[in-house]
Amino acid sequence: MFDRLWDDLAPVGRAGSTGGYRRYAWTPADATLREWFAGEAAARGLDLVTDRAGNQWAWWGNPDASGPGVVVGSHLDSVPDGGAFDGPLGVVSGLLTIDALRAAGLTPSRPVGVVNFGDEEGARFGVACAGSRMVTGSLPRDRALGLRDGDGTSMAEAMAAGGHDTAHVGRDEETLRRIGCFVELHVEQGRGLIDLGRPVAVGTGIWPHGRWRMEFAGEANHAGTTRLEDRHDPMLDYAAAVLQARELAGKYGIVATCGKVVVEPNGINAIPSRVRGWLDARGADADAVGALVAELSQGREVHEESWTPATPFDAALSDRCAAVLDDAPRLASGAGHDAGVLAQAGVATAMLFVRNPTGISHSPAEFAERDDCLRGVQALTAVVTDLVAGQTA
Ligand SMILES: [Zn+2]
Repeated sequence: MFDRLWDDLAPVGRAGSTGGYRRYAWTPADATLREWFAGEAAARGLDLVTDRAGNQWAWWGNPDASGPGVVVGSHLDSVPDGGAFDGPLGVVSGLLTIDALRAAGLTPSRPVGVVNFGDEEGARFGVACAGSRMVTGSLPRDRALGLRDGDGTSMAEAMAAGGHDTAHVGRDEETLRRIGCFVELHVEQGRGLIDLGRPVAVGTGIWPHGRWRMEFAGEANHAGTTRLEDRHDPMLDYAAAVLQARELAGKYGIVATCGKVVVEPNGINAIPSRVRGWLDARGADADAVGALVAELSQGREVHEESWTPATPFDAALSDRCAAVLDDAPRLASGAGHDAGVLAQAGVATAMLFVRNPTGISHSPAEFAERDDCLRGVQALTAVVTDLVAGQTA
């Protein structure tokens, strides 16, 4: 069954030129993925509920009558030219966990849900984990609906075009009430498990992380006729900032990335009039991230776009996962996840990571061995079995 589900997803939103995925929120590729999820839910006789933000929940059992439930799952969207595993591995594993529980003849003591969070990567509208943030209210309704993609389309327009009614977007108490705990399985996005020689780890939490926008103003002029000494070239200021960010990251023992830049007018033969660049900075130590941003901001226009403090996962739930999984190793995550957003909102949350043999992620080269994916399914099944059996009267 793993192979069938995986093969179904393989062609959706795949770019022929790179082999990477372009599965952005509220696009035709996203609609296909949502249809696929709804179809898998229907094939299993699960009740599909779409929440106020458009996230999909497939329930085995009624979370309103006998909840709250145990929720597993992840997301199906991708970064630009992303890999096949980031997100889908958790959703597929969630569906297979239900299959495994049923095959074992288990009658859960409380409902089990599989979630497909929308817009986790924020590739289109710039806010990561937008689906879970809308549900918890940490991304307020008006800000969410007013976000615009690179073509100027607002999230409200995109949602409507995707067939989602935006009238009720906002914090969703009904949905939150149904979640007793959330266990998100995810491909590891670093090299931790390679070094440990283990296929599956339990997450400890998510590093503090943030995004900043840097503005550099200059003067547009001709690339051939403007003497070097007469130029006001903001690209040079941007380049200096990128190099300094890298240097400061090394100094403070964290990571910093300048992966997005917008140049105006963006012509080969024109000195730019303006450069807008984004910084992503994170690390185990929030103070170190703050120090980097403070130094980089000296003499520059830097605006904070988002900041998420360190997010520990639920200790008791994580301990329980590790105990069920033969004392699985613990790993902190440098990547953000919906699990982190739910944890911030007070939901008992844990994560499982599946070994990535190269550590590469957010790239077409992202990979996990089939055997490790199956071990991940087994691990998630063991955890959910423990969680739903422990409640039996
Ligand atoms: Zn992910």
